[in-house]
Amino acid sequence: MRIGYGWDSHEFKSGIPLRIGGIEIEHPRGLGGHSDGDVLLHAITDALLGAIAAPDIGTLFSPGDARWKGADSSLFLEEAMRRMKAAGYAITNVDSTLILAQPKIGPHAAAIREKLAGLLGIPANCIGVKAKTPEGMGTDNAAIAHAAVLLEKSKTSSAKSSTSKPGHSQSKTRH
Ligand SMILES: [Zn+2]
Repeated sequence: MRIGYGWDSHEFKSGIPLRIGGIEIEHPRGLGGHSDGDVLLHAITDALLGAIAAPDIGTLFSPGDARWKGADSSLFLEEAMRRMKAAGYAITNVDSTLILAQPKIGPHAAAIREKLAGLLGIPANCIGVKAKTPEGMGTDNAAIAHAAVLLEKSKTSSAKSSTSKPGHSQSKTRH
């Protein structure tokens, strides 16, 4: 198994769309950045890269590279997934916490989880999306995301059969 952790923050700016977790959320301000500023996708991307000890998102996708200007951040996530699979791992689950004063994430959490499920190729019930307000932190003009991922070695064709060992105590058969 491997564990990965990622963190990111972006500043709110007027006149740009707000994208969090791969979906657009109706809000007067969006998150500035060289790409689409999707703070949650960036944190999850870094968590995946960190789990396999790959270079981080800023190294792979330099903010100085014109190719990533305004880029859909799902591109970064897809590259992290590609590297993870090449390293022989699969995602078991993802947990995340967003910290932002506005907008409320609760009403959008289900849609974000569904979107992430599609991007990550795991069920939505393996993806945690939590949100908190930044009490006393003075970061009301920013959105912050933390993400943790658990990876397991990909299943191989030599998967064990389910035969139980002789002599081992068995529980009653349930129907
Ligand atoms: Zn970012």
